[in-house]
Amino acid sequence: MMKYLDEYRDPTVARGLARAIATAVRPGRPYRLMEFCGGHTHAIVNQGLAHLLPEAVHLIHGPGCPVCVLPVGRLDMALALVRAHPEVTLCTYGDLMRVPASGGDTLHRARADGADVRMVYSTLDVLTLARDNPGRSVVFMAIGFETTTPPTALLLSQARAEGLANLSVFCNHVLTPPAIGAILGGVGSDSPLDGVIGPAHVSTVIGSEAYRPGAERFRVPVVIAGFEPLDILRAILMLIRQINDSRAEVETEYTRAVRPDGNAKAQAVMESVFSVRPSFEWRGLGALPDSALGIRDAFAAWDAERRFDMPPLTGRENPACDCGSVLKGALDPRDCRLFGRGCTPERPQGACMVSAEGACAAAWTQGPSP
Ligand code: SF4
Repeated sequence: MMKYLDEYRDPTVARGLARAIATAVRPGRPYRLMEFCGGHTHAIVNQGLAHLLPEAVHLIHGPGCPVCVLPVGRLDMALALVRAHPEVTLCTYGDLMRVPASGGDTLHRARADGADVRMVYSTLDVLTLARDNPGRSVVFMAIGFETTTPPTALLLSQARAEGLANLSVFCNHVLTPPAIGAILGGVGSDSPLDGVIGPAHVSTVIGSEAYRPGAERFRVPVVIAGFEPLDILRAILMLIRQINDSRAEVETEYTRAVRPDGNAKAQAVMESVFSVRPSFEWRGLGALPDSALGIRDAFAAWDAERRFDMPPLTGRENPACDCGSVLKGALDPRDCRLFGRGCTPERPQGACMVSAEGACAAAWTQGPSP
């Protein structure tokens, strides 16, 4: 395994790429590049890649952290459900347990108060829970971009096939291209972006062609990168070359995993279970049209929002938390007044400090100064 990873971590090649980047940048021209995905943010921070780049290259963290973009109101809905229905077992992925909802409430606290809230590692865990507990109403709070959506679709298909009436899904799956389009269209910082490092795992599902409309419309290049240091440095070099040539194309550095049309089987299973919601609220980005998935009528019996008549809640963000600006790339996490003071990974005040993919958590691993 390491043999295959070492190929993408060779320090001599990394230094060569850094020299090529330094040579490629044009004097006096800044290059504002956003890494959309939280996985890239952590790779950049953990590998110290920013230190290899010339000053002209600015890496800006994007909103590609599934826990971070979930708005407070959706967490409030989950908390209201599990507190009002003692027969419900609510299960979700671990990071979500500590994300503050309105008033600082959390799923963790609800569990401490006696609600049945459980952490799961996969949708198979959810299926097992429902099969083993026919007397409980098992609700899976599903979150994530296109990477985690196919497993949720398979879960719903399996539940229907088995007639598992005690299982339902609270669907919060979101779509990557509309979020990138919103940022390129001006939801975010005042200074426009020059290029986007496209996500790795998401792109294996949706394919590189999914980004073409946004890149062409906003005239901003996108290069899809893997998570290893050499992947990211190569992608940065590819972006700089496109910017210098005034090109706005979608290119793939991560060719070992991403195809232009993505994974047809995964797309088919998603299509059979989900339809696109007309609008969905994102933390930081606001309500974005056609940016999230809802459960099709054919699966209405397994849709928690319909089964429990869950009204949408608006939620109250912690006014001192700047997650919204961090997610748009408008604010560096260290510039939040709570960073390292009221807000640390042990006592997070916002989602961006909780999640392993959050920009504030990534910044924290570097210490008080970069
Ligand atoms: Fe929110 Fe904490 Fe990040 Fe500030 S440092 S934006 S309070 S998560």
